[in-house]
Amino acid sequence: MGMVLPKLTQKLCYDMAVWMIGLGLTIGLLFPPMMHWLGFPTEEVYSSRFMLACLTAGLMMAVANFLVARWVVAPRLRRLSSQARQVEAAIRRATDTNDWHACTPEKCQLTVDSADEIGEIGRSFNDLVDALLLSHAVEAAVNEFVHRLTGKLELEPMSEEALDRLIEHTQADAGAVIVEQAGELTLTALRGIQGLSDPSAYAPIRHCLKSNSQVTVTLPEDISIDAVLTRFRPRQLVLIPLAFKGVPLGLFLLARAHEFSQHAHRMMTLFQQSFALALNNAQAHHQLQHLVVIDPLTGLYNRRFGMARLSEEFQRATRGDAALSLLMLDIDHFKDVNDTHGHLIGDRVLIEVAQTLKGLSREGDIVLRYGGEEFLMLLPGATNDSGRILAERICHAIADQVVETAQLRLQVTISIGLACFPDQDAETPEALIALADRALYQAKEAGRNRVQTCMPAQTRQAHSGRTRESKRLAAIS
Ligand code: GH3
Ligand code: MG
Ligand code: MG
Repeated sequence: MGMVLPKLTQKLCYDMAVWMIGLGLTIGLLFPPMMHWLGFPTEEVYSSRFMLACLTAGLMMAVANFLVARWVVAPRLRRLSSQARQVEAAIRRATDTNDWHACTPEKCQLTVDSADEIGEIGRSFNDLVDALLLSHAVEAAVNEFVHRLTGKLELEPMSEEALDRLIEHTQADAGAVIVEQAGELTLTALRGIQGLSDPSAYAPIRHCLKSNSQVTVTLPEDISIDAVLTRFRPRQLVLIPLAFKGVPLGLFLLARAHEFSQHAHRMMTLFQQSFALALNNAQAHHQLQHLVVIDPLTGLYNRRFGMARLSEEFQRATRGDAALSLLMLDIDHFKDVNDTHGHLIGDRVLIEVAQTLKGLSREGDIVLRYGGEEFLMLLPGATNDSGRILAERICHAIADQVVETAQLRLQVTISIGLACFPDQDAETPEALIALADRALYQAKEAGRNRVQTCMPAQTRQAHSGRTRESKRLAAIS
């Protein structure tokens, strides 16, 4: 810091005027002794006329200097302050209207045309504006990120949206989102990364989840980026954990051909919190959806969901006169399995039978646990013939299936009743179920481990006769 003259008034220009006039008068006063020293006669240099002339010249020089200085500096300072006011007004308008188009770093800058202190003021102001705009851009990016994520409750679309935004704001070349579900790591979004087919096999991922802290890998082996025409090894891979209330939910990772900037790292940490929150919501939503429609033991649809789907499929079939087959399946002598081997083994049998039914169903078929050891399969588009073929296949598969535990090998059989619309006369979904139930009853009567279609003669009885379903309802009431 250079020497600073003491402050005399509240205005710099007044101070400057006082200093200049003082200096001018001092020079005027010093001028006669200097002339005397140079050998000019005393009576001339100390005459009042000469001294007045010297003081007047010093004063005039001071005033002229002051005016020139003001003339050079003041307009530039005035321009600087008026531009600064305009920028300030533009920023205020943008804040009020939330429209920042008129306030880009290029538009909201002062013109700096001097390499001195005034120029320095301009440059500092511009840096300040840059910092303000950057801080606003970061805030807007985080808000937009939160807004977009909260609009999505399904896990995969939400992860993809988040990954796209992350890649955009960190200038990453590729990335992935990995979510922990029921102890398994699943890739829910992937952009251009090769080598992550088994996320749990990749050590940095395990390390990031275990330590719940960011992991940076320089020149990662086994990982490559798939660009449009080439495939290259990233220079840096950053893994950021996603946890909610200390519970790890997953992580996102970003890869780049160059090192990530400081700003990119800052964006990653800023997005981390909102992403973890959105992920927690999506997982809670997923679990809730699951609870509402899925039978917890077998993983099949539950009865309530299945009945709703049957109504829809029945309406579709009656509207379009399309076929709809229904299989009612019941494990034979299942009570004996429970009584002999216990409920836990019984549950194992239920789970494995459910898996076989699911495995043999086609896309579009709906398999549900109707109750206890009874299942229902809705086969949209299946005629009596194709329904029977599938039912026979199921019957054989279950009979051949061996349920193995440490102590025993167990086999069960299943009986199946088949009803088909429009082959059989059913006006409501309940009537179709009653027909399938009736057919199942016949299959049990005929010796079990078989498929039975409701006979036309008995079709009519299905509306009035005692079916297993009506017996059960009677027993409950
Ligand atoms: P049938 O061949 O006539 O069908 O004989 P069944 O023994 O299979 O028929 P029943 O309806 O008498 O017995 C069904 C048994 O299923 C009774 C019940 O204890 C058992 N069960 C129902 N739900 C479950 C379950 O979730 N787990 C287990 N382990 N058993 C169940
Ligand atoms: Mg039963
Ligand atoms: Mg049974």
